[in-house]
Amino acid sequence: MEHIVIIGNGISGVTAARHIRKLSDKKITIVSAESDYFFSRTALMYVYMGHLKFQHTQPYEKGFWKKNRIDLKKGYVDEINIKNTTLIFADGSNLQYDKLIIATGSNPNKFGWSGQDLKGVQGLYSKQDLESLEVYAPNNQVCKRAVIVGGGLIGIELAEMLHSRHIPVTFLVRESSFWDVVLPKGESEMINKEIISNGIDLRLSTNLKEIIADENGKAKSVIIQETGEEISCDFVGLTAGVSPNIDVVKTSTFETGRGIKVNRFLETNIPNIYAIGDCAEQHEAIGNRRPIEAVWYTGRMMGETVAQTICGNQLEYKPGHWFNSAKFFDIEYQTYGWVWAQTKNNEARFYWEHESAKKCIHINYDKNTREFIGINTFGIRMRHEFFDRVLLEKQSVEYVLEHLADANFDPEFYKLHEKEIVVKFNTENGTTIQLKKKSWKRIFQTN
Ligand SMILES: Cc1cc2nc3c(=O)[nH]c(=O)nc-3n(C[C@H](O)[C@H](O)[C@H](O)COP(=O)(O)OP(=O)(O)OC[C@H]3O[C@@H](n4cnc5c(N)ncnc54)[C@H](O)[C@@H]3O)c2cc1C
Repeated sequence: MEHIVIIGNGISGVTAARHIRKLSDKKITIVSAESDYFFSRTALMYVYMGHLKFQHTQPYEKGFWKKNRIDLKKGYVDEINIKNTTLIFADGSNLQYDKLIIATGSNPNKFGWSGQDLKGVQGLYSKQDLESLEVYAPNNQVCKRAVIVGGGLIGIELAEMLHSRHIPVTFLVRESSFWDVVLPKGESEMINKEIISNGIDLRLSTNLKEIIADENGKAKSVIIQETGEEISCDFVGLTAGVSPNIDVVKTSTFETGRGIKVNRFLETNIPNIYAIGDCAEQHEAIGNRRPIEAVWYTGRMMGETVAQTICGNQLEYKPGHWFNSAKFFDIEYQTYGWVWAQTKNNEARFYWEHESAKKCIHINYDKNTREFIGINTFGIRMRHEFFDRVLLEKQSVEYVLEHLADANFDPEFYKLHEKEIVVKFNTENGTTIQLKKKSWKRIFQTN
């Protein structure tokens, strides 16, 4: 019987295994060095914050794996021997495969800072990171101040986590405004205010120079590049992005860029070996998407797609329209389609912000054709299926505004803000858009 081996028990690897099982009787083994069972990485923060126990992040019962005949092997793969189609583990053991799926995820970035490997200095990625956070930052007695380096989605999560245990946080952000490589100015400034209003010592345009050790090899302070200021701390979180974890292919003849290069069928350059999830890099980007996308749902989609190909229904990876969501302290963020940080030549923007400075929408559209290109929403929940359809049908910006009642998830929002938004758009654009009532039939059909 054909043996499918998967390196990595994250969302990508586990989805591939589940779907191969649905489609076939093949022998399946998942290998992981990190944890016995699959867990939701995105929920790690809630374990530290006390909302969940670690076991609650594991969506499948232990019996699930046996029942579905998915073998789990704990161990670190040092090397892939392509000639012998064998994995070589750090403990010297071997495992033979017929087809191999590499789903090894990402590593937190480290940029060669002096002191980056000291005790009390870490990223936030793995189960082990969560455990060491409990050692170095369990409370504000052991950790009198934490410094976070790198202002992206994981950095702000870590700030919220530490803040939940009343640990003072200094947050070093290289850019002049939070995540402004992705967020337009209005949204980025709104999040700056949200961070500061939560008592975080936000330092914009600020780089880490080095981390200083105490006599036990543990971090005791950081030095700021621009000013030379020394900030005492007991914990340093390195959250300056992630990079594909491709250590396992480094000694073989895999084609790599930043990630493991794959074609649209998620095949690497080595026959019968595939790569999916955070570690995979498309030869050519799909539409405006990035060739590497370190997000949860694309890992899941790649897992589903590769399972089809492995089971004989060769299927191209087509992730559809871009969307994403996150939370910045209390402000929920969603994005559908494209709203780049900088407006492009053919684009026009419409921005509305609520007086509370905790809610806004930002719509991007083509100024010549009026076609809707994308929307950012903060503090307002929108319907995925609505924007997926609008993008597919290439609807206009006017259509989106007329149908805000269908777009929006939150009935209160309709009562409170939609009229105001449309009036603002009409005033700025000389249009006469009228809000349409919620079309239940339409929503029902698109569900
Ligand atoms: C704190 C945090 C919050 C996040 N929040 C969000 C979010 O809100 N929304 C979102 O879309 N995305 C989020 N992400 C990103 C998302 O979690 C990842 O895109 C996703 O988990 C990647 O899944 P994966 O299966 O590709 O890899 P991973 O989940 O990284 O799994 C790879 C596994 O392979 C193992 N492995 C690697 N090399 C070897 C080896 N040589 N031998 C054996 N095992 C090995 C690793 O230990 C790991 O267990 C978040 C990430 C983090 C870290």
